[in-house]
Amino acid sequence: MTATATRVLVLNSGSSSVKYQLLDMRDGARLAVGLVERIGEETSRLAHTPLATGGDKRETEGPIADHQAALKAVAAELSADGLGLDSPELAAIGHRVVHGGLKFTEPTVIDDAVLQEIERLVPVAPLHNPANLTGIRTARALRPDLPQVAVFDTAFHTTMPEYAARYAIDVETADAHRIRRYGFHGTSHAYVSRKTAELLGKDPSEVNVIVLHLGNGASASAVAGGRCVDTSMGLTPLEGLVMGTRSGDIDPAVTFHLKRVAGMSEDDVDVLLNKKSGLVGLCGDNDMREIRRRIDEGDERARLAFDIYIHRLKKYIGAYTAVLGRVDAVAFTAGVGENAAPVRAAALAGLEEMGLAVDADRNAVRSGEPRLISPEYARVAAAVVPTDEELEIAQQTYALVSA
Ligand code: ADP
Repeated sequence: MTATATRVLVLNSGSSSVKYQLLDMRDGARLAVGLVERIGEETSRLAHTPLATGGDKRETEGPIADHQAALKAVAAELSADGLGLDSPELAAIGHRVVHGGLKFTEPTVIDDAVLQEIERLVPVAPLHNPANLTGIRTARALRPDLPQVAVFDTAFHTTMPEYAARYAIDVETADAHRIRRYGFHGTSHAYVSRKTAELLGKDPSEVNVIVLHLGNGASASAVAGGRCVDTSMGLTPLEGLVMGTRSGDIDPAVTFHLKRVAGMSEDDVDVLLNKKSGLVGLCGDNDMREIRRRIDEGDERARLAFDIYIHRLKKYIGAYTAVLGRVDAVAFTAGVGENAAPVRAAALAGLEEMGLAVDADRNAVRSGEPRLISPEYARVAAAVVPTDEELEIAQQTYALVSA
């Protein structure tokens, strides 16, 4: 790395998409952001916004065959703005990797052994790790000399005590198949819990925070003095809160029933619980804006979906209050948590005995900044703390390669 290399490219590779951001680590500024979607289809789309030059968003449609073609197209867009992958100012590429198992507790510079280990985890993350691997291999082929760093969604949760991470099933069976609770969204939980401490004017080691990451996927975590002690997602991102399309917690016997009585296949059940459940299964919509609009029009199904979503959230707030013993703050983040004031108000309604309350005026403020929504008198702070997973990945990547 040269002394002038201060840029980090963050790549988030999904099965048919690549999201990217180029950041300048001197001030965390975004130089370019973009997305390639529907990779492998006739109607692939690349949307690129060159923030550094103040240029408009550029969109191109047309077939992009695979991840290699996608990254080449991204590289060409970046080059057009003088921000190409061959620039000496590029210090590293940071990759979001969903599953790091127990081995990866920290961001890790990628070499062949690391790739092998990520590959070894494919059976526990069959949807995500293969796509992440493709992104890494493609980026390495384009810039073999450049440090590439894997930042794992599971890493922040590796501090969970054994009694929180282990399922109460036969130990030999669990260990033979690496079945345990790993948790996800860790980059976000780490970033938001730290920012919440900052908002309270304290060091992360001094505060206990419940983080509610409510996006399309959703998870809660209990963070004690900067370390995760429990989280709602488990072996896979299916466990825990009600999500946009996932059921969250469910009696596992429902799956036997669906197979034995309803005649569904393994794959049918998988699709049902991951893609056709949660808010979308309950009322047909997974966008909270649409659900709120329907509720305002008196739609009963939307109301019930909302109530089920809130009920689950409350149960986790209660559970994590008990786990932490003392809670200093509850922080809402991600698409729903940052934008849906009615969700925040409903989730904390009636919890005054637990020291929680929401100030209606503060809750109604719209802002991209971390902010308190609790009244002055509340014993436990309630806050909205916008997440920034790309910045966190870039910072962790840069810290590693510039050390
Ligand atoms: P992902 O899990 O895909 O990263 P996000 O964190 O971007 O998701 O959250 C997406 C969700 O946020 C949407 O499905 C929608 O329910 C919700 N959302 C976004 N904007 C708003 C808004 N203004 N009001 C209410 N909900 C919103």
